[in-house]
Formats: sequence, structure tokens, C-alpha cells
Amino acid sequence: MQNVLFPGSFDPPTNGHLNIIQRASKLFDRIVIVIAANPEKQCLFSAHERHELISAMVAGLENVQVQIWEGLIVDFAAKIGSKIILRGVRALYDFEYEFELSVINRTLNPGVETVFLPTDQKYSVLRSSAIKEAALFGGDISRMVPANVEKALKAKIQGS
Ligand code: ADP
Repeated sequence: MQNVLFPGSFDPPTNGHLNIIQRASKLFDRIVIVIAANPEKQCLFSAHERHELISAMVAGLENVQVQIWEGLIVDFAAKIGSKIILRGVRALYDFEYEFELSVINRTLNPGVETVFLPTDQKYSVLRSSAIKEAALFGGDISRMVPANVEKALKAKIQGS
């Protein structure tokens, strides 16, 4: 049984994240999406809200689960006996950062490998931070995020 972790901030989850999850769900036995609950990082959505949003997005995918984790991802991997961390890569600038992160994670735990999946070109410029900014200024984000995320973003902006 090949358990693969897909960690990230997912603040909010986007169609780019969903595409990676859908493709990975066909490659591996089980995908565990790990929402990073980092108290140092300022997020628009709480870890619980991100969990709800992404759970609704993957409801149709039987081999995908969602968990919240506060701590090192390699520690979570060890806890559930997973040997693979999956990360999406949009472009070269992503690769530099992701490569460094993979080296750090392998230094922390040599038993855990990072696997990269290149983005589908349709989503190559989708970035949670840019989507939040577009939503803040009333831009049409309907092709960038699923409907539940669009609704939650609008509600969050109106409520702030
Ligand atoms: P983090 O703060 O850990 O980078 P993100 O939510 O920004 O969290 O990203 C989680 C993972 O999803 C990362 O591997 C990132 O490269 C990948 N990702 C984000 N947006 C896209 C996209 N549009 N296409 C493919 N992968 C993406």
C-alpha cells in the first residue's frame, strides 16, 4: 500500500491543487492531503476551514483523505508510515524552492523521498496568493477555484 502525502498551505485550495490530486490519485494507492497548520504563518482561512474546503473538493475521490498537521511533514510521514511526499511544480522558480525543500526533508529523514508532478499547463500560473488578491478586488476567479472555494472567498472578504 503506497501512501503518498501531499502537503501544503492550501490557503485556499485551487483548481491547480485539485488537478495534481486527481492525477496523483490514479498513480498511488492512497493520497493524504496534509494541511499545514503553522501558527507563524498568517493564513486567510483557518486550518479547519481549509480542511472543509478541500474535503468537499475531493469528496468523489475514494482514495484521498485530508488531515491537518502542525509540525514537520517528515514527522507526519513517519507517524503514518509514508515514504513519499508529493509536490506540484509550476515552473522553474517553483523547482528551485521545491528542490531545496526536498533536500531539507531528506536530511531530516532519509527514509522519505519527494516526488514532483508538473502542473497541467492550464494551471501553470494559478497561485493561492494571487487568487486571494484578485478576489479582494472583485476579479472573476470562477475558473481558478472550485465553486465552494469561490463562495467561501467572497464570504470571507465581505465579512472582513
Ligand atoms: P506551500 O505553502 O506548502 O507551498 P501551497 O498551497 O502553495 O503550499 O502549495 C502546495 C503544493 O501545491 C506545492 O507543491 C505547490 O507547488 C503545489 N501547487 C500550488 N499551485 C499549483 C498549481 N497551480 N499547479 C500545480 N501545483 C501547484
